[in-house]
Amino acid sequence: MIARSPANWQAQDAHAEPWQLALQKVITDSDELLALLDLTPQALAIDRRQAFPLRVPRAFVARMQPGQADDPLLRQVLPVMAERRVLPGFGHDPLAEAEANKVPGLIHKYHGRVLLIVTSHCAIHCRYCFRRHFAYAANQPSRADWSQAFDYIRSDDSIREVILSGGDPLSVPDRHLQWLISQIEAIPSVSRLRIHSRLPVVVPQRITPALVAMLADSRLQVSLVLHANHAQELGDSLATALRPLRHAGIALLNQAVLLAGINDEVEALTELSERLFAIGVLPYYLHLLDHVAGATHFEVAEERVHLLRAAMLARLPGYLVPRFVREVARAESKVPLSPAPI
Ligand SMILES: *Cc1c(COP(=O)(O)O)cnc(C)c1O
Ligand code: SF4
Repeated sequence: MIARSPANWQAQDAHAEPWQLALQKVITDSDELLALLDLTPQALAIDRRQAFPLRVPRAFVARMQPGQADDPLLRQVLPVMAERRVLPGFGHDPLAEAEANKVPGLIHKYHGRVLLIVTSHCAIHCRYCFRRHFAYAANQPSRADWSQAFDYIRSDDSIREVILSGGDPLSVPDRHLQWLISQIEAIPSVSRLRIHSRLPVVVPQRITPALVAMLADSRLQVSLVLHANHAQELGDSLATALRPLRHAGIALLNQAVLLAGINDEVEALTELSERLFAIGVLPYYLHLLDHVAGATHFEVAEERVHLLRAAMLARLPGYLVPRFVREVARAESKVPLSPAPI
């Protein structure tokens, strides 16, 4: 997702779909963003020379509150000087994914599941992203290279689930997704397909009838894991877009990241879970921040994390309390937050 030349399919195209046009018209200039929000740069310590640049779709900006410098959506995308803070333990590959990168485009870390890096491209650049420094250049397989990934999956019949990730896997055109899915369907030992994407939240029109049909027609059991961190991200157009996916029997889950100043209040977390459920999505994971360089200002103290979880358990039905987890390099799964010290 770091500066790169646009792929061909992003070029101006008379046949582009509305969601592709939305991706072409993303905001990349902080002055334009602030002007749309009636904010002055003086109110914010903006960093204009970030290697991981500003990128935000207009539909997401429309969900921000004008005049609010601390808007929880704005804070997720605006590059600020605080990102330059260096702290021990915050590095470039916090999850040691490089070790699990078995063949180009494939990460095999956990039993029974592999993750495919479908693209390096994202609709939005999230400031806390743990892959903001990922070696995407070495992980942009051509169609011929993909055969290595499929051979890898075929050679290990413990692999039951293939996860499409990135970057954002829904930022590629349907014809490429269809090709990938058919290749995966041709591997008999694989029974589940999972898509991890932030695109439906930030550009709801990405969920086209053609995409729904493609997923509904697959022989694989399909789930879609959305990524929203705050109830304010979840509008009516998303609710409408998700309905046909639910009707097609696709499991809808959400993962969020716990972020200081954005959603580290019990009200914000409770509202997120309730709003997700109202639009047919179950809260799956609440990730503790990965210690990636540039994200130190989003860290929430461990005692506070325990308090937040206890407060959610006390207020919500169990199925609306997400699993609080952290990624630990070389662990066998995502690691649940240990019980609170008594
Ligand atoms: C998160 C993740 C998965 C999926 O883990 P689940 O616990 O099944 O959601 C798989 N592979 C990698 C590399 C991951 O980071
Ligand atoms: S959409 Fe996902 S992969 Fe892309 S920048 Fe945001 S968190 Fe990272």
